[in-house]
Amino acid sequence: MGLRYTLAKAAGTASRWGLRRLGRNAGNVPGKIARVIDPDVLSGLGRRCSEGSIITVGTNGKTSTNNLLADIFEAAGKTVVCNRSGANLTEGIASALLQTKQAQWGLFECDELWLALVLPRLKSDYVLLLNLFRDQLDRCGEIDRIQTSIAGALASSPDTVLIYNGDDPLCAAIANAVDNRSYAFGLEESMELAQNTVTDAQMCQQCNGMIRYRYRQYGQLGDYYCEQCDFARPPLAFAGSHISMSPRGVSVDVRSSQGCERVSTPQATPYAVYNLIAAYAVCSLTDIPLGAFQKAVDAFNPRNGRLQRYCIDGHDVLLNLAKNPTGFNQNLKIIEVDRGPKVAAFFINDNLADGRDISWIWDIDFEELADHQDTVVFAGGTRAHDVAVRLKYAGIRATVVEDIADVFGRLKGLVERGVLPEDAGVYAIANYTALPTVHRSLDAMEAHGGESGEASRDMQPASLSTKATESDASMQGEAPVVIAHVLPDLLNLYGDGGNIRVLEQRLKWRGIPVEVRRIHHNESIDLTEVDLVFMGGGPDREQKLASEQLLAMRDDLAAYVEADGPLLAICGGYQILGRQWLWGDELVPGLGLLAMETRRPGTSADRLIDNMVLESPLATHPVVGYENHAGRTYLDKGLEGFGRVVSSCGHGNNDTDRIEGTRYRNIVGTYSHGPLLSKNPEVADWLLQRALERWASRYGQPAPQPLEPLDDSEELAANAVMVKRLS
Ligand code: GLN
Repeated sequence: MGLRYTLAKAAGTASRWGLRRLGRNAGNVPGKIARVIDPDVLSGLGRRCSEGSIITVGTNGKTSTNNLLADIFEAAGKTVVCNRSGANLTEGIASALLQTKQAQWGLFECDELWLALVLPRLKSDYVLLLNLFRDQLDRCGEIDRIQTSIAGALASSPDTVLIYNGDDPLCAAIANAVDNRSYAFGLEESMELAQNTVTDAQMCQQCNGMIRYRYRQYGQLGDYYCEQCDFARPPLAFAGSHISMSPRGVSVDVRSSQGCERVSTPQATPYAVYNLIAAYAVCSLTDIPLGAFQKAVDAFNPRNGRLQRYCIDGHDVLLNLAKNPTGFNQNLKIIEVDRGPKVAAFFINDNLADGRDISWIWDIDFEELADHQDTVVFAGGTRAHDVAVRLKYAGIRATVVEDIADVFGRLKGLVERGVLPEDAGVYAIANYTALPTVHRSLDAMEAHGGESGEASRDMQPASLSTKATESDASMQGEAPVVIAHVLPDLLNLYGDGGNIRVLEQRLKWRGIPVEVRRIHHNESIDLTEVDLVFMGGGPDREQKLASEQLLAMRDDLAAYVEADGPLLAICGGYQILGRQWLWGDELVPGLGLLAMETRRPGTSADRLIDNMVLESPLATHPVVGYENHAGRTYLDKGLEGFGRVVSSCGHGNNDTDRIEGTRYRNIVGTYSHGPLLSKNPEVADWLLQRALERWASRYGQPAPQPLEPLDDSEELAANAVMVKRLS
């Protein structure tokens, strides 16, 4: 232990003491100070855990599972050190260690990308890997990058034992890639849950074939195998079966080499089953007795805004965190169980810790809530308007609110007017940085005897959820406009599928019949029957497979484009339309429909990631988008851009010319995710007008009238928020 370490430790401890005296929670600060003095401070501090340490990583469930483990270890009579508040970078873990002199066990949650910094220093006995879902892709790039980073961390600490979710192919691929001893946990039977639309890990990372499922639980979790090689779910060292789920909780048999034990949790959610088995696996390997395990699970009360219940003004309130599509979809399932009149309030922020990109809200299946007619829906947070737009296209009218107090003010008014009953349930779902504010306000309201205060004076009309009104007068009998969504299973990043939703709804709202055809991997389509083609962006691996399939369709696509068929291609889909693009160092031939090529300077970690505002001839309003790509595209002379980047942030096609995307005939190629069309309705209508022209010529009809305008105030409000912020 050098002088640096001693100094760092002393400074960290002193700052913690100082902050306490000031009445402030220490949080990350002591760890930050200590780390500045000695970047390696964690190596020494780790020795404060006399029996060992366990690090929990994974996209969803880290804080709950880690805190639950700490409770269990304490119930078993162990002394523990734990970063309970969820501060999960090096500083947060160092701060927790600085607050204790000695403990038997260290239980730490760690951010996925920070494991590479933490594990080589802590050299923990166990890493518990819960799951990997798309989350904060603006920070993480593509999921492959997180996997590589976690595998690298494990390789740096070869004695660490990996306990991982075997039902998650992304976790299993990590276990396959490292030499660490490992144990898989999972479920041996289907929970028979309704499936959601967007999932990750469609492709085998071993051979690039497609992954198939005997059954799927949610997201990409399930019993899977590759149709082409030997990659499959591993044998489960801790296998759950005989699951019984009721509103009062879940119980499950867990079979392991030690025998079979039945465990239960009062939390009645499918993901609680996985967290329970994960915690059981840890306890079994560390010889924690079952009695202590079950006692702590039964008494577990996170009190950190995760699945927290309140009673306010006579309303049962449930608050929960959701920060990615998989977590959000699970929350919607909880809300949907309540068929009665209720309030749902969604708070979405886009601060740095949340990820600046919120296009993932388009990967959430809000449509499921649309037939809950007597649900009043509110949207809050820094991106409230985006949430309201997303809900609008799901057929749900939402009111934008200031905060949760505003929700209760309006709720009071609705109860007074008899729109909602006095005991209507309230569900508040918030993402990472939105949660603490909502949590604090609800705590305060409950502390005031469950009274929220005055009814909101500025009472807006009740915005009961309504299915999108589709005028069906002219929908009878006419052949539909056909939109082809090409390869949604491979090219579907950053909510790109939302573009389809926007196109479809904007036709329906005008009473124009529409049919969406989805062409999955290995399926084909006759483009002479299609009026608009869409392809989204994709991670490199999926993009390569998509590229191969599209190459086989090249002649049909070329004929479609030359006949002025409209085509919208985003990011990966856009790159494929050029002459070539690069997959790592490998040159992949493109379709050559656009006179351009995509190169890749540096590594795929050198990504262009930002919000951007464009000027485009296709719109009178500024066009707002979000880019996240490693490839740099260069247009040949003569090929026009889709727009010009006018915001100070954002790049567009490459690092130099500020041109974004391209237009050729009726192709729009662009790097703008977001999804593009959600906040840029003029671009949507430009494409739809071209689609109607093609439809008219296919059916020998006269050229169509210009599309009737729609009320785009919600879309333009969301657009204006970003334009204001970025200009
Ligand atoms: N994989 C491609 C790249 O990084 C495209 C990414 C995307 O579609 N967002 O350049």
